[in-house]
Amino acid sequence: MTVEILSFDLVVVGAGPAGLCFARALRDSGLRIGLVERLDAATLAAPAYDGREIALTQRSARTLRDLGVWDRLPAADLAPLRTARVLNGLSPDGLDVSPTARGAMELGYLIANHHIRRAAFEEVRDQPNVTLLAGATVSAVTTDSTRGRVTLADGRVLEARLVVAADTRFSETRRAIGIPARHRDFGKTMLVCRMALETPHESIATEWFGHDQTLAVLPLNENRASIVVTLRHIEITALKNLPAEEFEREMQRRFLSRLGRMTLESERFAYPLVGVYPGRFTATRYAAVGDAAVGMHPVTAHGFNLGLVGTDALARLLCAAATDGRDIGAATLLDRYDREHRKATLPLYLATNAVVGLYTTDSPPARFLRGALLGIARRATPVSAVLSGLLMQGSLPDGLPRAPLAGLLPRRAAS
Ligand SMILES: Cc1cc2nc3c(=O)[nH]c(=O)nc-3n(C[C@H](O)[C@H](O)[C@H](O)COP(=O)(O)OP(=O)(O)OC[C@H]3O[C@@H](n4cnc5c(N)ncnc54)[C@H](O)[C@@H]3O)c2cc1C
Repeated sequence: MTVEILSFDLVVVGAGPAGLCFARALRDSGLRIGLVERLDAATLAAPAYDGREIALTQRSARTLRDLGVWDRLPAADLAPLRTARVLNGLSPDGLDVSPTARGAMELGYLIANHHIRRAAFEEVRDQPNVTLLAGATVSAVTTDSTRGRVTLADGRVLEARLVVAADTRFSETRRAIGIPARHRDFGKTMLVCRMALETPHESIATEWFGHDQTLAVLPLNENRASIVVTLRHIEITALKNLPAEEFEREMQRRFLSRLGRMTLESERFAYPLVGVYPGRFTATRYAAVGDAAVGMHPVTAHGFNLGLVGTDALARLLCAAATDGRDIGAATLLDRYDREHRKATLPLYLATNAVVGLYTTDSPPARFLRGALLGIARRATPVSAVLSGLLMQGSLPDGLPRAPLAGLLPRRAAS
């Protein structure tokens, strides 16, 4: 039997938001890209609502504008995010974070994940240097010093100078390459759905760390909101299965009627919470982007935002190498991406996990500590300024001490 071999400069596994934005960022690179996706093309063209409302930083909005994806998002569904509020327990006093940048009206924007997927797919679908292999199952991935090989279940073999994984936080490509990753199972599940609210939300995103539960309200247009409830998996399953009217009453009870009457407007979706950080983002002729690089807990709303930081960084390095006629799979290039993306993501990954740990532990010392921390943060203007910068640009300011985090760097895995 003859094996069909398809030759590319790079193969990207996964056409989710990260894989698509990455391929789009390489449009003018002259590189021939094979984009492999398990879902079929019809599903990619019309992805279903999945309950995720993505809070985009101003920086991500700029990146999506540059990629042409922004203009394909439905303007009526883009909701401004003006303030982020953190509440602790029953205390009505929270920490409010508003834009600090001059002239900025909002911290960022909310848009449903399926809109991002569809818009990015529309941009890439007819891109001349991209060959979409949709509805394809990967059966093996190997790399050596000269090339990467991706074998599909139908027997076709894709060869390239670089293989890029963009295939979720549980990346099978990363596993095939043999890179270990630290998984942190938070032991909780997040339920998300859209609800209409009686009380105006005033474009304020509220994260409410109550006792035994974490609730969030993400403001959407027309006084709708994405309602987020984090509980033990068994409790989420029960909530998800409640008849709509009982669910609405239960939500009003959990939110202490602060949002007035709440009306369910969508299906309910459940996401088990697992953070993933691999030992390396790169190996021989391999790199990871999106959730395959960093799988964030959604509480700080940074998964896709960091994904765009990574796709942008790797695409720039590849474009420069292609322009200069250098090897796009060279170890020096990949090492640089690994260093840059680790610096951009590790402090946030660790800080997010620390926040989750502190705010979901219900022991009296933890309750006291989080109340005290919020009090300090409320009074200290620099803290709000740092948080504002974080929410708008998705990175910690350069001046912040990172040294204590250095010791927590995951040990490097042999590639
Ligand atoms: C409830 C929730 C709320 C969130 N809120 C925010 C937020 O406010 N802000 C934010 O920035 N981020 C948020 N995120 C994170 C964000 O959704 C993810 O970071 C983003 O979707 C990751 O995109 P991705 O392309 O890396 O991976 P995915 O979206 O997981 O896409 C991966 C793609 O790879 C394909 N694939 C997988 N395996 C294979 C294979 N073996 N072969 C071929 N194809 C394969 C899949 O079919 C899929 O199309 C949230 C996440 C959740 C769960």
